[in-house]
Amino acid sequence: MRLENGNRVVIVGGGPAGSCAALQLLRLASEAALQLEVIVLEARDFSRPGPAGCNKCAGILSSAAVRRLEALDLTVPPDVVQAELDAYILHLGRTELPIYPPDPARRIYSVYRGGGPRLGGSPCPHSFDGWLLDQARERGAIVRRSRVRTIRASVRPIIVTPKEQIEADLVVLATGVNSPTPIDPAWGYKRPQTETMAQDEVPMPSGLTAGVHIYFGHPRGLIFGALIPKGRFASISLLGHGLPHDAVSLFLEEQGLLHSLPNVTTRLCGCTSRVVVSPASGFYADRFVTVGDAAVTRLYKDGIGAAFHTAEVAMRTAIERGVSRAAFEAGYRPTCQRIAVDNWFGQFLFRLWNIPRSTPFLLSAWQRTLQNELAFPVMRQVHTNAMWGIFTGDESYRRILIALSHPAAVLAFLRGMLMRSGAFVKES
Ligand SMILES: Cc1cc2nc3c(=O)[nH]c(=O)nc-3n(C[C@H](O)[C@H](O)[C@H](O)COP(=O)(O)OP(=O)(O)OC[C@H]3O[C@@H](n4cnc5c(N)ncnc54)[C@H](O)[C@@H]3O)c2cc1C
Repeated sequence: MRLENGNRVVIVGGGPAGSCAALQLLRLASEAALQLEVIVLEARDFSRPGPAGCNKCAGILSSAAVRRLEALDLTVPPDVVQAELDAYILHLGRTELPIYPPDPARRIYSVYRGGGPRLGGSPCPHSFDGWLLDQARERGAIVRRSRVRTIRASVRPIIVTPKEQIEADLVVLATGVNSPTPIDPAWGYKRPQTETMAQDEVPMPSGLTAGVHIYFGHPRGLIFGALIPKGRFASISLLGHGLPHDAVSLFLEEQGLLHSLPNVTTRLCGCTSRVVVSPASGFYADRFVTVGDAAVTRLYKDGIGAAFHTAEVAMRTAIERGVSRAAFEAGYRPTCQRIAVDNWFGQFLFRLWNIPRSTPFLLSAWQRTLQNELAFPVMRQVHTNAMWGIFTGDESYRRILIALSHPAAVLAFLRGMLMRSGAFVKES
């Protein structure tokens, strides 16, 4: 089951996974001198402000994601980049702990996925998803604004929209997890499990150190909350178990952020969206493959980078090995499995991190460890680099855990425990 000249590939969903699948397919097909018709069906208009035009995310582009775009000869244009993020500031009770990138050449950006906050006023920020979809169009994809109703299982899959029925030689499901999955149960696809996150936009608070601010503890159920600068606005993104419906208000109040907002009554947007916490099953079959969130993603981090990664490997498999279940099993599944296994390490790391975070003695020992590392060259700053990797998604969780288990890293932490309480921590 190979793709042949004149075959049609229909990609359902034009978020990062769908657009990247189109870009990769067109690139790989051209290298293989194969002429394909690539159609992307996307329901949203990304130029619209507010939830209607937005794929509801904190909008941090990891350096891995930026590198994957560069490999496609794509540079995120300055009017799409909302801020360059060169520090993460962890708020730990009364202390503020800044973490800097181990390698300044690693660029991390914040972007808007749609046309910016609903009440943001003009000019609207430029959408990252809209820009990426335009790149796919410019390189030869046919992009149509259409919500797919169902994908029927048949010898050639049939994609049903309100206006037409399209037969395809391969259908790529890239619908994420924030819309109903338009797929006939006969395919045997089971979508990933998710958790609900709360998301909001506020005017950029004053008096905060530049960078992404990470908060813990409040409100009840919070795993962590992030405040991400985006031009004249900031996104607030809260991840937690069973967060209350007014989580963002409580967060602003309990983290003491209200006083730094220019206008406390101004909440400019707001949504709850789903984040993936387990892989899908049945995510490929003959002439059918799923990419991005709808298949598997990285735990709590770098979902856009993971969407690029799965889209690339799935499309490479389609071109080089074929579009049968067996081809995807051999060429695509191992990548998804590696991501899923890495997430187990991630889960362990987040649990591990909760121990010092909630134990004052261990927390100050660990802070001293980070302080001591400042005297070392960057490559030896294991704990600092680990924190950067955990919160930015710039490193695999497995590699972070291996680095932290190294005897030198354990010794450094023990030394931090034995030292008297240091005065380096900035009291906020
Ligand atoms: C609150 C929150 C914050 C996050 N923050 C970050 C972050 O800072 N950085 C990061 O890298 N990741 C982040 N993520 C994860 C990231 O949003 C996802 O991993 C990423 O968007 C996945 O891309 P995707 O293309 O698979 O899915 P999506 O981005 O969800 O795109 C799916 C597309 O399919 C379209 N679609 C759906 N159904 C249909 C249909 N029937 N017909 C046609 N089109 C359809 C949708 O309109 C959408 O455009 C966050 C997630 C959440 C929930």
